[in-house]
Amino acid sequence: MPDFINCKHCKKLFAKFDQSSYCDNCTEVEEEVFRKVRNFLYACPNSDAIAISKATGVPPLKIFEYVKEGRVAIASKPEIDEASEEGDEQ
Ligand SMILES: [Zn+2]
Repeated sequence: MPDFINCKHCKKLFAKFDQSSYCDNCTEVEEEVFRKVRNFLYACPNSDAIAISKATGVPPLKIFEYVKEGRVAIASKPEIDEASEEGDEQ
């Protein structure tokens, strides 16, 4: 019996089968975004979040999320004002 949770991105209710916090649609979108970051890091392994963000258009907070989840490794964290980018993620 799967748990039903609200998608972290679009708030749609969906059956949670694995660790994902996103519905199927958003998982695909998320994967696409992640792939962009990962591909950039293949090309430029020692980039920091700001450089990655500039090159891929992915917000730095998103990149830090990947780092926290252990999905990518980036150069040391630059000083950025994280509070200013706080979204409505709650
Ligand atoms: Zn969704």
